[in-house]
Amino acid sequence: MKRIILLFIIFLVLVFMIPTVFSQKIVESSAKAEIKEAEALESEDNQQKSDEDSGTDEINKENYDYKEYTTIKLLHKNDNSVQELPLDEYLLGVVSSEMPATFEQEALNAQAIVARTYTIYMIKNGRKHEEADICDSSSCCQAWINKEDRLAKWEENVREENWNKIEKAVYSTKGKIITYNGEVIDAFFHSNSGGMTETPAGVWGGTNYPYLQSVATAGEDAYDQYSSEVVLTKEEFKNKILESHADFSIDFSKDNCIQIAEYTDSNRVKTVKVGNLNLSGVEMRTLLGLRSTNFTFTMEGDNIKFEVIGYGHGVGMSQTGADSMAKQGSNCEEIIKHFYTGVEVVNM
Ligand SMILES: [Zn+2]
Repeated sequence: MKRIILLFIIFLVLVFMIPTVFSQKIVESSAKAEIKEAEALESEDNQQKSDEDSGTDEINKENYDYKEYTTIKLLHKNDNSVQELPLDEYLLGVVSSEMPATFEQEALNAQAIVARTYTIYMIKNGRKHEEADICDSSSCCQAWINKEDRLAKWEENVREENWNKIEKAVYSTKGKIITYNGEVIDAFFHSNSGGMTETPAGVWGGTNYPYLQSVATAGEDAYDQYSSEVVLTKEEFKNKILESHADFSIDFSKDNCIQIAEYTDSNRVKTVKVGNLNLSGVEMRTLLGLRSTNFTFTMEGDNIKFEVIGYGHGVGMSQTGADSMAKQGSNCEEIIKHFYTGVEVVNM
């Protein structure tokens, strides 16, 4: 009888224990499966990384060691102070300053890669500032704002969401830069190309870069930055040019007193004959405060009206163009490869 009871107890124990052991095994194996999956994802990433690495040459690896650039020396233009801060923290301030946080995530990601590329290029090749790698002025290097000031400028209800997008842009693209033939590119960018980007020679003269070609982008006309106008009286116009050219004279009674003499390949104004002077489109833009060199003008009574297309020099990535492409489903890498011809996005 005792044996029967003992056997029954053993039976009961087995009946209750086996499923527990099994279910534990199932839990264990599913946990292992998850870990394996995670490892697979990680190794896929590593594979992508090594694929990209193998696409770049040895010179690139030697020259662009990301670990070398964990911090950056940033010059604050307002008080000439130099702040040393981690590169990614610096990039948060650049992306949040240079591009509206309302833009698509992939456009922000592209901006983060472009800003990182520009920064590394400045560290390697920049000669603008003696005691710093880069400054916080958009007209000199690239704009930057500290987190506290940035958050204060946003409405409270969007602060967290906006900042999360900025962080995602910088951290999801961590270490990624743009290269051409294995060398970091000079990643120019601007606000709105007006539908067609410009070559560097079209703006600054000199030689062109193979990766900065003129490219067309659809959808930029949907943005406020696309068109603008400036109306000046003839007197104001004359005075603005006189500020830089004391010998300037103009007879407004003559039909051809202002004439666009030459256009760039992307159809921006290259040179203007104005009175007794020949001025570049770039100088006209600066003197008159136009948003770009893609302008036309009309004389109306005592006024001259300038109608302007696009915003910025037009070279490299158009930010509104990037946002427009992202809205159409392009990812950050596709956006970058659209605006910079023949480039690679690589991990440093
Ligand atoms: Zn600067």
